[in-house]
Amino acid sequence: MERAVSVLLVDDNPEDRALVMRALDQEFPALHIQQPADQIAFDAALLAGKSDLVITDYRLGWTTGREVLRSVKARHPHWPVIMFTDSGSEEIAVEAMKANLDDYIIKSAAHIARLGVAARAAVVQARQRQALAEAELRYRDLFNGVPVGLYQTRPDGQIIDANPALLQVLGYSSLAALCELNVRDLCVHPEGFELLQHALFNHGGKVRGFLAQLRRHDGSIIWTESCTRIVHDAQGRVLYHEGALQDVTERRSVDERMHYLAHHDDLTGLPNRVMFKHRLEQAIAESARRGTLMALLLLDMDRFKAINDTLGHAVGDDLLKIIAERLTRCVREIDTVSRLAGDEFALILPDLTQVEDAARVAQKILDTFAPPFQAGSHELFMSASIGIALYPVDGGNLDTLLRNVDIAMYHAKEHGRNTYQFYSTEMNVKAFERLSMENALRHALERDELSLHYQPQLDLRTGDITAVEALLRWQHPELGMISPLQFIPIAEETGMIAPIGEWVLRTACAQNKAWQDAGLPALRVAVNLSACQLRQANFVQVIERVLRDTGLAPRYLELELTESMLMHNTESAIATLTALNAMGIDISIDDFGTGYSSLAYLKRLPINALKIDKSFVSDIPGDLDDAAIASTIIVMAHHLGIRVIAEGVETQEQKDFLMTHACNAMQGYLFSHPVMVGNIPPLLVSSATL
Ligand code: C2E
Ligand code: CA
Ligand code: CA
Repeated sequence: MERAVSVLLVDDNPEDRALVMRALDQEFPALHIQQPADQIAFDAALLAGKSDLVITDYRLGWTTGREVLRSVKARHPHWPVIMFTDSGSEEIAVEAMKANLDDYIIKSAAHIARLGVAARAAVVQARQRQALAEAELRYRDLFNGVPVGLYQTRPDGQIIDANPALLQVLGYSSLAALCELNVRDLCVHPEGFELLQHALFNHGGKVRGFLAQLRRHDGSIIWTESCTRIVHDAQGRVLYHEGALQDVTERRSVDERMHYLAHHDDLTGLPNRVMFKHRLEQAIAESARRGTLMALLLLDMDRFKAINDTLGHAVGDDLLKIIAERLTRCVREIDTVSRLAGDEFALILPDLTQVEDAARVAQKILDTFAPPFQAGSHELFMSASIGIALYPVDGGNLDTLLRNVDIAMYHAKEHGRNTYQFYSTEMNVKAFERLSMENALRHALERDELSLHYQPQLDLRTGDITAVEALLRWQHPELGMISPLQFIPIAEETGMIAPIGEWVLRTACAQNKAWQDAGLPALRVAVNLSACQLRQANFVQVIERVLRDTGLAPRYLELELTESMLMHNTESAIATLTALNAMGIDISIDDFGTGYSSLAYLKRLPINALKIDKSFVSDIPGDLDDAAIASTIIVMAHHLGIRVIAEGVETQEQKDFLMTHACNAMQGYLFSHPVMVGNIPPLLVSSATL
């Protein structure tokens, strides 16, 4: 012990003091002893605050050992105190030990020999305690003072400790409030904590540079970067996790800004070529995975160079901005519009249902470019040439698609600009036909190009015509008569089916009423419905209005639906049909047998008739399977009280078979093709007179 030991000796017996000093002298070569003779001297010694050890008698003239102990520990908790007690007063010693007495010695010649050893032990321990306390204090100062957020958590994420810097980062004013939380509670993304655990596990219990978004106390969200390590005890058991954390929100927003600038065109704000390629790669991968159609459009402004050259770049820049805006308005949220260079733009259109969708977007772009562009004080007319390449048909990877879309764009330029071209000729033809048909169909109603033909249904028992099916015809101005199989799907996709369907209903009902008014035998008129019509919310009202306007009684109207229309959207479809049926309108299932509905399923529906599809009729009676299907349908339907009509009856054998199996009615070329309206009255008259 190099340092001099300073002892405060409180004893009013000079002999005892001498005894003590002798014992200490032997133990500590450098020794300084203070011997206060009264309370004032004692208090002064306490205030001076320099002792390594206090030795006190229990019984004193001016105070007691207990008092000495109390005042020393109150002021200097680390100073060790050793007390002399008389033999036989062990209770006093025990009580004093409870009050933090470090040791006691019984006042006798035999025991005083222990004093030296006890004093040395007490001084050494006190000095160690002091060193530890100081280290602890330094550590605390560091923990509380560093400008980096520090924390300790239990392995399950429960927060145990945090320094003021961390409280500040997270916006908490008290440690207690933060210690009620788990790290999970702070993570914006629920998987954040799991990711950290995973990283700790995979990197030997130490993770650096871990990025996570945390929610501050006030609800704001910050980006943080942290280092965490797992702390073990000597046996390798996990004690806790500790780490450091910094708010990097600002740094990240700078990074993001840099990233944005690197990936966007600064004039228009659109994704640039780098970003475009990245998006295209993604779109290709996504289309490949999901097996969907994707279109790539390359757009080049016509004669843009002339504008730059004559009006200057400022006007050119203004124009490009307007072009970017107009382009963006033509596409869906999931599409990408980007500026590749100069006046060249590219569009990625993923997830298309058909080729024509790409043509439609291209046409829309050309249309939005039609109004003049106001650039500075100039009003300019602009047009573009657009090339279209499709994934996967026109190329299975990025390079091929880019090459082919470029070729397509040059074709558009060669075609006289202000137009679009597909890479493949076949697509060009298809898209053109389809779009021109769509356009023509828009005018078909107003130009009176639609008409109805009627095909009679014959009662197989009586031979009477009991109904006619109304079949839609379109006299196209250039293409001639077009089959409904070709244009009904277009009408359905474009929404034109609603007005067209209502026109069919109205015309058929009015016609039927006109025949009745002309004194012809009354019959039902069957009208084909499309799925879109059945989904129309006010469809029942539409029918009611048509019947009221035309004056036709509901029992003379029959509606034909296909099985698939009933499979989808069933509940509301059933409700609509039930309402119509209750009005007295007949409901029949068209093309029966081609769908999946079982007869049992039909029991749930308000059905009056089934039309056996002509594919089953065409090969009877020769094809035994078809014959069995047809006869089974008839038996089962009759069992359910449903009428059966055979479609597409072309031969006498077919008719004979159907009659033998008690089919109710037939329709087909054998008796009559669908005919123009004027041909129906003679048929009615002749069948009535048969
Ligand atoms: P569908 O309802 O099955 O109509 C029967 C089709 O079979 C008609 O073709 C008719 O001309 C044809 N057909 C009649 N008898 C025979 C025969 O003996 N042999 C053969 N091979 N065929 C025969 P169409 O008129 O071309 O109509 C085709 C489809 O267009 C119809 O099939 C129907 O699904 C739909 N359709 C027709 N008019 C309308 C309408 O006003 N609205 C709606 N939504 N669809 C309609
Ligand atoms: Ca039909
Ligand atoms: Ca049919």
